[in-house]
Amino acid sequence: MSKYDYDLFIIGGGSGGVRAGRISAGYGAKVAVAEEYRYGGTCVIRGCVPKKLLAYGADFHEAFEDAVGFGWTITGAEFSWPRLIANKDREITRLEGIYRKLLTGPGCEIFDGRAVLADAHTVQINGRTVTAETVVVATGGAPTKPDIPGGDLLITSNEAFQLPDLPKRVVVIGGGYIACEFAGIFNGFGAKTVQLYRGGQVLRGFDDDIREHLAVEMRKKGIDLRVGVDVVNVSRKGNALELKLTDGTSLEADAAMAATGRRPNTSGLGLEALGVALDAGAAVKVDEWSRTSVANIYAIGDVTNRINLTPVALHEGHCLADTMYGKRPRKPNHEAVASAVFSHPNVAVVGLSEQQARRDFAAIDIYRSSFTPLKHTLSGRRERSLMKLVVDRATDRVLGAHMVGADAPEIIQGLAIVVKAGLTKAQVDATIGIHPTSAEEFVTMRTPVVAS
Ligand code: NDP
Repeated sequence: MSKYDYDLFIIGGGSGGVRAGRISAGYGAKVAVAEEYRYGGTCVIRGCVPKKLLAYGADFHEAFEDAVGFGWTITGAEFSWPRLIANKDREITRLEGIYRKLLTGPGCEIFDGRAVLADAHTVQINGRTVTAETVVVATGGAPTKPDIPGGDLLITSNEAFQLPDLPKRVVVIGGGYIACEFAGIFNGFGAKTVQLYRGGQVLRGFDDDIREHLAVEMRKKGIDLRVGVDVVNVSRKGNALELKLTDGTSLEADAAMAATGRRPNTSGLGLEALGVALDAGAAVKVDEWSRTSVANIYAIGDVTNRINLTPVALHEGHCLADTMYGKRPRKPNHEAVASAVFSHPNVAVVGLSEQQARRDFAAIDIYRSSFTPLKHTLSGRRERSLMKLVVDRATDRVLGAHMVGADAPEIIQGLAIVVKAGLTKAQVDATIGIHPTSAEEFVTMRTPVVAS
C-alpha cells in the first residue's frame, strides 16, 4: 500500500493534464486533478475551440457575397454578436462537462480550486493537505500585455471571447497566431480592424512566401494591417481609446487587444521554493521525459513552453502516462509538428520553411503554386491560394509543406504524414490527385521554381 494519498496529483485541468490523468487512471493509478478555473483549460474554454467557432461565424459575410455569383439573392442578413457569444458559451459549458466526465469516468478525483505545492510530495488545496508520489504541473499559460502607459486598458484574447458587444473599431496588436486570427474574426464581423505589428512581416518564423501572401490576402479582405509600427501609449478618450503609435500617428478605437504573447503560469505554485528550475521566460525546464529538476515532479503543455499547441500537450501527457503507469516508456516527439493559423484566409504548415531548409541543407528545391480556387471563378472574389513544398535535393525527401487558403489546415494534416514519414517528392508525384480540388495541386507541382 502506497504511503501517499495518490499515485499522481496533476495541477491543471487543461488538455495536457486531463489526458495524463485519464490515461494514468485507466492504467490503474490513483489520480487527482486540480483546476482553479474551468476544466478544459485554454483550448476548450478560451482558446482553440471558441476561437474556431468565432472564425466560422466570421466566414459567413463572404459566403453571402459569394453566393450571388451562384445565382442566390440574399436579403436581410443580420448579425448578432450577443447571440453568437451565448451559443458559443453554451457549447463551451457542454464541453467542460465532458472534460470532467473524461476524468471521473476512469476514476480520477477532481478538485475545483488552486493547488499549491508545500513540498515535493505535498499539495495544499481548498484548505486540505494531500500527498502524492508524483506531481505533474500542467498549468498552461496566460496572455501578456505590453508594458506601456495605459497598457491595462488593453484587452487580451481572454476578454475578447466575452465582449458584450462587437466593437465598431478594433485595434489588434501583434503579428503572431492570435493577432492574425482575431484580426480576421473582428474584420469578418464588420468591425473596422487595424492590426499593428512591430516587425517587418506577420508570422515571424513562418516561411517568407506564406507571410507575404497572407498579408496581401488579409489586406484584400479589408484589414488595415500595418507593419513596422507599435503602440507606445493608450489612454481613454470619452467612451473610446486613443492609441499613440511609434510613427507619431494616433488611432481611435472602441477596443484594443494585445495579442503579444503568452507567459507560462508558474508563479505562486511553490515551484521556486522547491528548487524546480524555470527558464528566463518563467517556463518549467524539463528533460526529454518531461521531468523537472525535482525528480518526482513533471511538467507538460504550455507551462514548459516547448511547442505551445493542444495536440502537443495531449501527446506529452499521454507519453507520461504510458511511461509511468502503462509499462510503455516513450518520450514525446516534437519533430514535424503541423500547425495552423485560423486567420482569414487560413494558414497551415508542417516541417521546414524555405529559409530554415536553406540553412540546414546543401541544396533544396522549391515547388510553389499560386492560383485562384475554382469557387472564385463564379464568386468573383479576388482571393488566391498559395501552396509550397520544400524538398531536399540530395535525398528527394519532402522537408516542408505550406499553404495559405481555404481549407489549408484540412489539407496540410494529410501532408503532415508525408513530412513526418520522410516520404520523397517522387512518392508525392506518384499520387494521383482528386479532381477538382485545391489539394490536388500538391501532387501536381512538377517543376521547381527556385533551385539552390
Ligand atoms: P506569438 O508568440 O505567436 O506572437 C506574439 C506576437 O506579439 C509577435 O508578433 C510578437 O512580435 C508580438 N509582441 C511580443 N511582445 C510585444 C510587445 N511588447 N509589443 C508589441 N508586440 C509584441 O504569441 P500569441 O500570443 O499569438 O500565441 C501564443 C502561442 O499560442 C503561439 O505561439 C502558439 O504556439 C499558440 N497558439 C496556437 C494557435 C493555433 O494553433 N492556431 C492559436 C493561438 C495560439 P515579434 O514577432 O517581433 O516577437
